[in-house]
Amino acid sequence: MKYCENCGKECQDNAQFCDKCGQKFIYQGENIEYSSKSRLACGLLQIFLGSLGVGRFYSGHTKIAIAQLLVSIFTFGVGSIWGFIDGIVILTDEKFTDSQGKIMKM
Ligand SMILES: [Zn+2]
Repeated sequence: MKYCENCGKECQDNAQFCDKCGQKFIYQGENIEYSSKSRLACGLLQIFLGSLGVGRFYSGHTKIAIAQLLVSIFTFGVGSIWGFIDGIVILTDEKFTDSQGKIMKM
């Protein structure tokens, strides 16, 4: 038996969809498109240059990147903590995706 990621219902091992909520089961190596970008690089860029949103520019999240840049400027650097924390979150989030929704691997 396996469990639905969405609702937690027990389903048959060979089920393709959860019979309660319809969630599709994703098998390893199937239907998962990984980003060509590195999450490690992205996270480190954010930790060191997050005040400029560099890691977010890298992952394609341009709006967030610009917001981080502006926050840093308008708070005279205090707001750069946002980019720093963002970098840690990126490094620890195994399901972190780029702007195209593709999972970024380390
Ligand atoms: Zn379900």
